[in-house]
Amino acid sequence: MEKETIFECKCCGHCCHGTATVSVNAEEQQKIADFLKMDLSALRQEFLLTKGNRTEMKIVDGHCIFYGNDGLCKIHPVKPFHCKQWPLHPSILGDINAYNAIKKDCPGFNDEASYEEVCQLVMENRIQD
Ligand code: SF4
Ligand code: SF4
Repeated sequence: MEKETIFECKCCGHCCHGTATVSVNAEEQQKIADFLKMDLSALRQEFLLTKGNRTEMKIVDGHCIFYGNDGLCKIHPVKPFHCKQWPLHPSILGDINAYNAIKKDCPGFNDEASYEEVCQLVMENRIQD
């Protein structure tokens, strides 16, 4: 099966909703600040939340603060690594239950694709990172 048909994001926004977001490291914070033409301190105050030694994006109205009304990510070109990687997460490799749990929440996976084909795609995605 062609890799484009194994997974294709449906832009449903499910992975941008919830009670917490992914972590954003210092390099990613600076890239987002540059993209938004903001000072780092202003970005951190307006958009980010620090819990202990972990910084993540704020949640507003049940979704990431960067999730737009059009259903798209407002910082798509510079979104954090964990957002770029999702849902082709390495936990899928060697654990079909992890795959099934992720697939349950993400309509982008093709039901016709085998677990092995999905693992191959995850491997290829890791190489590109
Ligand atoms: S849940 Fe899956 S299909 Fe929906 S936006 Fe996220 S990655 Fe795309
Ligand atoms: S940064 Fe973008 S892709 Fe990541 S959770 Fe927020 S809105 Fe979604």
